[in-house]
Amino acid sequence: MFDCLFCKIAAGEIPSNKVYEDETVYAFYDIDPQAPTHFLVIPKDHIGSVAEVTPENAAVVAHIFAVIAKVARDLGLASYRVVSNIGEQAGQSVHHLHFHVLGGRDMTWPPG
Ligand code: AMP
Ligand code: ZN
Repeated sequence: MFDCLFCKIAAGEIPSNKVYEDETVYAFYDIDPQAPTHFLVIPKDHIGSVAEVTPENAAVVAHIFAVIAKVARDLGLASYRVVSNIGEQAGQSVHHLHFHVLGGRDMTWPPG
């Protein structure tokens, strides 16, 4: 089987602290939080990163952003940051598309 950590988390084969789930999207708290609130939103179907988004699979990305808005609202986040790292130089460590949602503290710009 294709060996992908986030595919296994989305399938429930590896435990996670879930914040949201539907047919196509899964959201869970980051195991190493970088802010008081830090969760990840992923498509259940494997996409390697933003660099692999195409017209054929882009619908789930729009849905992910609707999920981000809903979960952030439900958690009471009025201000937050959404980040996706693409490739080694940007610090991507898990090669399954994921959007970090970070909130609950002051953020700096530009990001490091
Ligand atoms: P990135 O480095 O942008 O690819 O983000 C991967 C994120 O996944 C990091 O913030 C990790 O802390 C997080 N992570 C890795 N393994 C797990 C896990 N088993 N459960 C929750 N988050 C994880
Ligand atoms: Zn995957």
